[in-house]
Amino acid sequence: MIKTKLTINQERLEERMESLSLIGKFGETGVCRLALSEEYKEGIELVREWMDEAGLKTRTDNFGNLIGRLEGKNPEAPILMLGSHLDSQPTGGRFDGPIGVLGGLEVVETLQENSIQPEQPIEVMAFCDEEGYRFGIGLFGSRGISGQLQEDELNRADADGVTRRDALDAFGADPDALQSSEYPEGSIAAYIEMHIEQGPVLETEEEPIGIVTGISGPLWLTVELTGQGGHAGTVPMALRKDALVGASKVIAGLNEIVKQDPDAPTVGTVGNLTVEPNARAVVPEKVTFTVDLRDINLERRNRYEKQLRYYIKSVAEENRLEVDIKEDSNISPEACSENILDIMREESKTMGIYQIPELTSGAFHDALPMAKSSEIAMLFVRSKDGISHDPREFSTYDDIAVGTELLYKTTLSMIKKY
Ligand SMILES: [Zn+2]
Repeated sequence: MIKTKLTINQERLEERMESLSLIGKFGETGVCRLALSEEYKEGIELVREWMDEAGLKTRTDNFGNLIGRLEGKNPEAPILMLGSHLDSQPTGGRFDGPIGVLGGLEVVETLQENSIQPEQPIEVMAFCDEEGYRFGIGLFGSRGISGQLQEDELNRADADGVTRRDALDAFGADPDALQSSEYPEGSIAAYIEMHIEQGPVLETEEEPIGIVTGISGPLWLTVELTGQGGHAGTVPMALRKDALVGASKVIAGLNEIVKQDPDAPTVGTVGNLTVEPNARAVVPEKVTFTVDLRDINLERRNRYEKQLRYYIKSVAEENRLEVDIKEDSNISPEACSENILDIMREESKTMGIYQIPELTSGAFHDALPMAKSSEIAMLFVRSKDGISHDPREFSTYDDIAVGTELLYKTTLSMIKKY
């Protein structure tokens, strides 16, 4: 454990984390707080109360975000934003999201306790629907405030047929006035997000926290291969157009393509596959599967995408299949701000962490779309066994406190320099 004197109040942070984890709780440690649900609303209201108590000016916007603002001496100065999200996966844990929001609030509250009023406003942000589970597309609040929503997003429906529009309405937001909640270009100087690592690197290195140099951007495709069905006993092999044989070649091919450079963090996954008619004695006629391709380097990701598309085409020809590829999402990877990284490197030394681990984020976060309109930075807190999106997700409060302390020191340094 790092021996550092904390400026932030670990006990308060811990109590709030525990109280928030009761909202949407299932089992011993599970959390289900889907975006814009009743539980989400309850979570937002609780955190809003704490923000109010801390003297922040609070509001929810038309994207379903919660914002707590500490006014700056110069209210017009570009905002320093701290935050993350409060929504969860259906079988989520207690830490993914909340540590960034409550950590940000802890930072601002500590500033006030030390009678520090920054030159620029600081906003603590709880972004709505980072996870994307309910309506099938994530980062809603962060894409929203930075003007990056796609056409027709309001008409996306959840499993019960409730559209995003209805859900926003029920939450108390006005889906017809989304634009009024966008932040004007240049109004946010920087966005800093503390998050659990969701991977095993920090645990392996036995370090409580690390800083993030860049965030991978995901490319999501849906591939449809169509051949011809037939009796599994009577259609000779030479005459078959078996869509599943083609799909399995593509899946294995993707796995090889992304492993070309063993030192690169590129990852490729086929996580969902539908076989039609999906019957033991019928040659598969149609296979639909998803591709998730991520990299920190866009040029390399584009190159691999090209290779994959070419390979799919050649497999389709070889197996006499029709092919259709749809692009569902294409988000560029983003580098974190070198300026802020330098501050974090310096400040972590004052906390006794002489060589803070530096890693890239394979998962996307609200910081990714925020990079289009401001500088971004992230810091990671060690995750037990690298597990997340699961009730077993765990980080110790000691580690979270160390992360929050670095967030505080970084904020303090930034409000002097910006
Ligand atoms: Zn998260």
